Amino acid sequence: MVKNVNTAINRVSNELVVMHIRTKIINKAKTLDLKNFDMPEFYSNLENANKEAGHRPLNSLSATFSMFSTIISIVSFIVIIAAISSWAPLVIIIISLPSAAINFVYKKKNANYARRNSKRRRQMDYYTGLVVSKDVAKEVKIFGLADFFINKFKTVHANYFKGLKKLIFAETFWHIALTALSSVANCVIFLYIAHMTFRGELQMGDYTLYTGALNSVSSGVSTFITTTATIYEGSLFIENLIAFMHEKTTVVPSIPEPVIPQRGGHTIEFRNVSFKYPGTERYVTKNVSFTLHPGETCVLVGLNGAGKTTLIKLLTRLYDPTEGVILLDGRDIREYSVAELYDLYGIIFQDFGKYAFTVKENIAFGQLSKGIVEDDILAAAKQSDATAFIDNLPGKYDTPLMRLFEDDGIELSGGQWQKLAIARACYGDSDIVILDEPTAALDPMAEQEIFNQFDALSRDKTTIFVSHRLSSATTASKILVLEGGELVEEGTHNELMALGGKYHTLFSTQAKRYIEHQ
Ligand code: ADP
Repeated sequence: MVKNVNTAINRVSNELVVMHIRTKIINKAKTLDLKNFDMPEFYSNLENANKEAGHRPLNSLSATFSMFSTIISIVSFIVIIAAISSWAPLVIIIISLPSAAINFVYKKKNANYARRNSKRRRQMDYYTGLVVSKDVAKEVKIFGLADFFINKFKTVHANYFKGLKKLIFAETFWHIALTALSSVANCVIFLYIAHMTFRGELQMGDYTLYTGALNSVSSGVSTFITTTATIYEGSLFIENLIAFMHEKTTVVPSIPEPVIPQRGGHTIEFRNVSFKYPGTERYVTKNVSFTLHPGETCVLVGLNGAGKTTLIKLLTRLYDPTEGVILLDGRDIREYSVAELYDLYGIIFQDFGKYAFTVKENIAFGQLSKGIVEDDILAAAKQSDATAFIDNLPGKYDTPLMRLFEDDGIELSGGQWQKLAIARACYGDSDIVILDEPTAALDPMAEQEIFNQFDALSRDKTTIFVSHRLSSATTASKILVLEGGELVEEGTHNELMALGGKYHTLFSTQAKRYIEHQ
């Protein structure tokens, strides 16, 4: 019965510890900068922290208890044996030293191997994940990619396993050799005790007592070694966790008493801003300077890779510039409280999120802090032209989306998801609305409708669009043309058309295509 209770306590405490540590890891991950998510090293640290971090602490704890009880038992049996021989316990202990060393050395080697091979483990997870990933399921089927991914998985696994097998074999070899050695030593001591009994120096009963004690000491010593090695191994894995917990957040206010931004209209100024992504050498934003006044509608224009999204990431302080400053209402954005600064922005990125939650929640994610305010949800849906399709859903705003968890989950079309994402950007009480390629999956009619809604509703807000369709730029109060990270032209549609430069070429090419297609 005691055993059953013990098992139950162990299982429950294990669950609690695992949950506690997972929560700690995820809470830490929450505070990390976006730049971490660009670094393979970050994923390795995260994986290493997650891997086994859950059960290691409890293992180490129970090993510690077991170590103490083993010490007590070893000492008491040594006292018994010491009565007939002072060297026998000493021999057992000395003979166990190499075994202890091997145990520790291989625990370290195993932990290093696991740490070094985090990339391979992540690759294996990635390849198997691709085969069952909903996001790429269509391509995987049509292009017949599954076998390719499975073979990739097998190749990486074979390499991973090759190194692991080597370690296991080498460790086993040493264990067998050292166990043989200690068996020989035990035999010698047994023979010695037998010899003493034979000569009449020990009683027959003593023979049983001493050989039993000897057995207990040698098995006690071996338990002691494995438990201390387990504790040591646990500490090596916990080191991973600690290393992850020490990852630094750099997007923090630059002054001790961060400023809370004023709400309302804002002046945004980029002053000689240059930027290269952390860990890379190429400037993707080069000496960019411009000013946006409150209530302006700005369109960022440029070919793919020109640096439009990067500019948005800098403005929203997802990354800090490598050189130069970004000012909000005349103050470096690094001086503001980060959470309050983020609150100013309502944003959708090109790769916006699709969440397996209800329609309502998908919109409210735009500012969860204000809760689910029905009127605001309706207004946001209206602004993004989403009301028509939402009203046609079986549960309207309460319809669960995606069929990941719910049988009655609804799959939306690309354009419908995009409208929801735009609604999300409109839901918060943001002062600056940023839409990065917001209409890529929408037809031109829907796009126009959304632009009209924005024009009508966001008069006092600064609105920044990144758009491939230059028709949206014609009414903007400022167009910024980016090329290779540089701001090459700036002005209104009419000014830039009159200039006859890059914008003129881009616009004319697109207009020509539209006309040709009509
Ligand atoms: P645009 O939005 O104009 O298409 P981006 O701002 O997304 O362009 O990208 C500009 C350049 O920055 C591209 O050359 C791209 O490869 C590079 N880039 C974008 N994101 C990252 C990143 N996380 N790490 C390194 N380089 C990046």
